[in-house]
Amino acid sequence: MAFCDYHACDNCGERKTFYDADHNITCADGDWLYDYNAPTYPGYRVYALCHECAKTHRIAILPTTPGAPL
Ligand SMILES: [Zn+2]
Repeated sequence: MAFCDYHACDNCGERKTFYDADHNITCADGDWLYDYNAPTYPGYRVYALCHECAKTHRIAILPTTPGAPL
């Protein structure tokens, strides 16, 4: 399968993560959004690490509003 059929690692950008060719992917506001179909469906931000980067990095979910509970 071609590299473009996979979500590229969000850390190194050089290795494949999961197969994403079955989704509608759009770049909006600097993020890749899956299954984006505005205005009804705003899409989903998806982040993934390749196996090598997962050995030294992790993905964190943090609030966008200062002072919001973690
Ligand atoms: Zn990586």
